[in-house]
Amino acid sequence: MSEREQSVAQRAAANQEKSPVTRVFSGMQPSGELHLGNWLGALKNWVAMQDRYPCIFSVVDLHALTQTSDPDEMKARIRDMAMGWLAAGIDPEKCTVFVQSTVPEHAELSWVLTTLTPMGLLERMTQFKDKARSQAENVNVGLFSYPVLQAADITIYRADGVPVGEDQVQHVEFTRDLVRKFNLKYGKVFPEPRALLTSSPRVMGVDGDRKMSKSLGNHIGLNDSADVLWKKLAPAKTDVRRVRRTDPGVPEECNIYKYHGFFSTADERAWAAEGCRSAGIGCRQCKEVVAKNINAVLEPMRERRAGLEAHPGRVDEILHEGTKKLLPLARETMGRVRDAMGIPNRGRYGIGEDR
Ligand code: SF4
Repeated sequence: MSEREQSVAQRAAANQEKSPVTRVFSGMQPSGELHLGNWLGALKNWVAMQDRYPCIFSVVDLHALTQTSDPDEMKARIRDMAMGWLAAGIDPEKCTVFVQSTVPEHAELSWVLTTLTPMGLLERMTQFKDKARSQAENVNVGLFSYPVLQAADITIYRADGVPVGEDQVQHVEFTRDLVRKFNLKYGKVFPEPRALLTSSPRVMGVDGDRKMSKSLGNHIGLNDSADVLWKKLAPAKTDVRRVRRTDPGVPEECNIYKYHGFFSTADERAWAAEGCRSAGIGCRQCKEVVAKNINAVLEPMRERRAGLEAHPGRVDEILHEGTKKLLPLARETMGRVRDAMGIPNRGRYGIGEDR
């Protein structure tokens, strides 16, 4: 971690000790089938968080437009992502789930915040550089101003907590900068959100070489059956030293051992490490234990998903309820923003209630 990243992470940790968090916001792009990387990197934290805070979770389709342009695919992915969240344990009785574009105030506030954002600040965001490299044929303005829309996603609900891994703290800091700027210039409208640091491990795919991703085809889906899971795990890469069953290995250099770290008990991890170093166990045996433990996590998700698929209207109802619940809050925030900035409220012209 660089010095700057370290200081950012320290500040975020210090923030966590301040006043209690009253509203949490987080979102995920509908970018395809959910997999173990999504579970360990975000969803598992969300499921735990919904019991601690009032949480808003958004399928951020406006963000996805910077990458996807197929309307049918977009529609299917939005629904599939919401279903995947619910199957994973996101409970609409405990939190609010909705689709970003159904609350138009996100885009409206994003424009307002754009007018306060120096170009230089956006140019420094590392995510833009990475994305611009990965989709060189489509480096659009939305991709560049993406962090401003992220800031609007948080501030439109005056959320004060944002769960992030350490590599995402920069985005929360960016939002805090914009909030301070707005409040200083126009009067206090927004609370300063803070990063709620969560464990967000880098989960490698079954190829052992690259981060787990649906597009790379190296993923284990949250909806994979036990058979499909084993078909992916059985040929998965292990430590290259273990050519024959009798060759000892180095577990720390094996991706399967990392999966043990995520899913197995301390005893099972010790068994795998010792058995690997002494060649006392084979890789197949080792993988069978990982598969058993991953299946134990996925089985309740498979069951919940089957229940949702049997009642296809239920997901739409939940998303609709989420939007209905959030619209008044978003409108109220925009009313305050408009008042503070001296631009008219729509209610003044009889075309909507901002306040
Ligand atoms: S025994 Fe387990 S940890 Fe060792 S190389 Fe094989 S799969 Fe990896």
